[in-house]
Amino acid sequence: SETYGIRAWGRNYFDISENGDVVVSCTTAEGEKVRVALPDIIAGMKARGFEMPALLRIENILDHRVRMINEAFTKAIEQASYQSIYRGVFPIKVNQQRHVVEEIVKFGRRYHHGLEAGSKAELMIALASSPDEERYIVCNGYKDEEFINLGLRAVQLGWRCFFVLETLSELELIIRCSQQLSVQPILGVRVKLSSTVDGHWKTSSGDRSIFGLTSIQLVEVVERLKLAGMLDCLKMLHFHLGSQIPNIQNIRQGVQEACRYYISLIKEGAAMGHLDLGGGLAIDYEGVSQCDTHSKNYTLSEYCIDIVEAVMETLDPQGVAHPVLMTESGRFTVAHSSLFLFNVLEVSNFDPVKNVRLLPDNMQSGHYDEKLRNLLDVLECITPKNVQECYNDAHFYRSEIRRKFNQGQADLRTRAVAENVFLEIIQRIQEVAASTQQIPKELTNLREDFADIYYGNFSVFQSLPDTWAIKQVFPVMPVHRLQEQPTREAMIADLTCDCDGKLDNFIGKRHTIPLHALEEGKDYFLGVFLVGAYQETLSDLHNLFGDSNVVSVRVTGDGEFEFVREIHGDSIADVLSYVEYDPRILQERFRDTVEQAVRSGKINVETRREILGAFDESLRGYTYFEH
Ligand code: PLP
Repeated sequence: SETYGIRAWGRNYFDISENGDVVVSCTTAEGEKVRVALPDIIAGMKARGFEMPALLRIENILDHRVRMINEAFTKAIEQASYQSIYRGVFPIKVNQQRHVVEEIVKFGRRYHHGLEAGSKAELMIALASSPDEERYIVCNGYKDEEFINLGLRAVQLGWRCFFVLETLSELELIIRCSQQLSVQPILGVRVKLSSTVDGHWKTSSGDRSIFGLTSIQLVEVVERLKLAGMLDCLKMLHFHLGSQIPNIQNIRQGVQEACRYYISLIKEGAAMGHLDLGGGLAIDYEGVSQCDTHSKNYTLSEYCIDIVEAVMETLDPQGVAHPVLMTESGRFTVAHSSLFLFNVLEVSNFDPVKNVRLLPDNMQSGHYDEKLRNLLDVLECITPKNVQECYNDAHFYRSEIRRKFNQGQADLRTRAVAENVFLEIIQRIQEVAASTQQIPKELTNLREDFADIYYGNFSVFQSLPDTWAIKQVFPVMPVHRLQEQPTREAMIADLTCDCDGKLDNFIGKRHTIPLHALEEGKDYFLGVFLVGAYQETLSDLHNLFGDSNVVSVRVTGDGEFEFVREIHGDSIADVLSYVEYDPRILQERFRDTVEQAVRSGKINVETRREILGAFDESLRGYTYFEH
């Protein structure tokens, strides 16, 4: 567990069993603590025809996250004698998948956990969920007339559906539409705070943030609403400082500034009553508990307590009643509940080969190229004292041989032997360096510089887009064989023909991770954890690798689980149709080509049948590597 830090980032959801498997730990509906090994779930998936790669969702974890945030706020509110309540909403954009949203709504019903919609499509998802007059829907984002009318109808039906004003022009439209339908809108206003945050999303905050209204625009909103006799419709102040805020100080500061706006709007005569802090509650992807982009320096309970305290400290001296506290915590709610699994197809390494077949005839009889002789001499004289010198010499003589090869003065086999001797030197230097304390700085990264490449059966762009787009660090580790010490150091390449299609950002700012050597004829499975937020719909079809299989399980007892939902990943026909190819037309065209080959005598009809059969089967097949 030390090697991969699983106890730190696993947050009690993931651990390692005595026989070296990653286990999922959950609490059942009856409150019993239970564990299930991931290889058992993988075996169950395989038996049901769900091959790797696959996304695995654990419903119990999703439920637990919804419970955690609601109970943590309730506790903070009780302890501080805060005079109002917490109402969370799940931002649909963070994971729009029906199974995820439905589970949040179903489990969240006891807390009236609502939904946040940033588009018409997302609002439609929210409106199709079972009604609950206590549950909130928050509409963010740009809104056209259709969006607004849909939201107004929701209000008419009894939903607490807020429009959060993002621009002034939106307000005009809302006023007009609500007058036309004779429905009083429930309004919020998103403010642009000058408080800034640390982390990747720092540009979502501060004066240059692209979202929210300035104080000048806020005054205009108040005036316009007054004029329309609708100031009593303004019931919420909204702000969002950015996602994954690593520093609790930033959150406290933001809340204080927002509360000043809140007080001011009350003084202006707005009804208010709700303070929505947006998202930002961070995940500790690295398990290091520090103020760093992929970590955070606070716990959930500190987050809730600090918010409650900051609101009370600012509002109480002004005698302003406590508002309903709202957050739109997406990442916190869903990240832990999904993990991505894939198998390793093969490994390429930079170990020297022990194969005399490389030697050309003249070398077998002792006639070596002079530079190659120099390289061999370097190999013979490595000691702890001269590692740096040997390293420099090895580089020099190898480049000399490369130069000679390029100029036609050294043949392929000479070059191959030289490259191999070079790798032998590197291996020897590593061994010698490992036995001494004083390694030259330049040589400390040799293990990373000459790491293996493990080829994984997946696409970074389809399944882990943030690792490519924003260098997001997710915990990655084998899900079995953990009773064995990993002996290799590796980066991971995917199936796409793209030099960005790789995983080489790991916990601890490392570019490689320790892995086990592959065993002949046996699968080796890796898991990428905490991927439930943002990954599924940000993905793309690079090289036409489609959606992976998705399986949701519910852990029911120790070692027991149920497959509650399953979705087969895209077939090749599916992905082709996404880029406007009609699989039937492709079939017909291919048939013509094959028939032509029969006519010209290249193949017989028996071969024709086999070729067309294989083509049809491929169209139905998975886009990933199949055994
Ligand atoms: N609310 C708004 C307005 C957002 O823009 C976002 C995402 O950036 C969220 C909520 C969700 O944030 P998080 O996933 O950090 O909770």
